[in-house]
Amino acid sequence: MARMIYAAYPRELEAAGANEFLGRLKGEIGIDAVNLAAAHPPLRVWTPRAATHHHTICSSGGAQFIPDAARYTGGRLRPHAGAWLKGRDAFGRIVESARDQGLGVEIRATCLNDPGLVERYPHGACVSVFGDAHDARLCPSNPEVRQYLLGLVGDLARFGPESVELDDVGFGSGFGPQWYSTDWLDRQSPEAALLRWCFCASCLQRAKDSGVNGGAVRESVMSRLSLAADSEADSTQTPGDLLGADGTLAGFETVRRATVASLIRELAGGCAAPLWLTAVGMDPSSTLEETINEAVAGIVVPFSSGHVAAAYEAIARAVPPDRIRASLRIRPPAVRSGSALVAEVHKIAGEGFAAVQFEEDGGSPAHCLGWLRQAIRYARRESGDPPVSEQ
Ligand SMILES: [Zn+2]
Repeated sequence: MARMIYAAYPRELEAAGANEFLGRLKGEIGIDAVNLAAAHPPLRVWTPRAATHHHTICSSGGAQFIPDAARYTGGRLRPHAGAWLKGRDAFGRIVESARDQGLGVEIRATCLNDPGLVERYPHGACVSVFGDAHDARLCPSNPEVRQYLLGLVGDLARFGPESVELDDVGFGSGFGPQWYSTDWLDRQSPEAALLRWCFCASCLQRAKDSGVNGGAVRESVMSRLSLAADSEADSTQTPGDLLGADGTLAGFETVRRATVASLIRELAGGCAAPLWLTAVGMDPSSTLEETINEAVAGIVVPFSSGHVAAAYEAIARAVPPDRIRASLRIRPPAVRSGSALVAEVHKIAGEGFAAVQFEEDGGSPAHCLGWLRQAIRYARRESGDPPVSEQ
């Protein structure tokens, strides 16, 4: 039986009345564990099921707990605690309350997508091929950024979670087509992939240490982008074709993958709890598959319409099902009805995945919690019959 996890934001739980709501998750809805967001990007949610219907959460994100400053002495980056906490240990209290209610406690954190930290520590930001610094993305090559993340996973393990899930631990979509208004570029094209690359001082240094000429790579990327801009036809190459044909670019990509793989290994070594990674934004490659299978407990993969989302199929194939958590939204448009959610959860249970992770931010109308209760009940019944609606 897959473990049923409710992934929540501490502010959402506080708005809902944490004690009572956690008790409801456990007793009425049938959740096994909560996965609490300890650090996340900016959030804007209208919570229609709050008592007044007028409650919104507008947060600049950042740390949702009170950090232990002593853990961040390896560099200049320090977590910035969300203003809503006002110095209170609301996170610690929610952790305790969840345990009192008999729920397992897992913790997750978004690592490298943090506009607040980039604003405070611009030297850690990713830099595009054109020399522009990113406004939200920290670079995994930067030694101080890596020190900060190592401090963060140690800090989170202090709450004694059953696992820590890390989101956005790689280069992510970086300077993708939306960032530069280059939506005329096909997202799957090699040029779009090259545009996302980071050329910050740390990336160039890592390339140099591996015998790769970063300057030559930058020139090559710029000339390929110019060619794409001057051509009316879409590229017929895949990113793999391009790297296969250009040793300089392939060398740089190898360094990038090794950078992310070594970071994952360092973080797994520095975290007392088992580490899970979110597949979103992860670039599947043989190097990463090996790292995932050796260094972390598993991956969290988006699941919709009865399947692992197409973009993550390769990464899901690389690890056994019992090391996959299928993540799922509980409201439209991801699921349109209670019976649709019942069918999704039934399918996931049949795949032998370790857990179903329900992603919630407090924005789902009250009846979606009813759908969730129904879906979990059905999965627990484990009759083997096709899913039926209880409506
Ligand atoms: Zn970089």
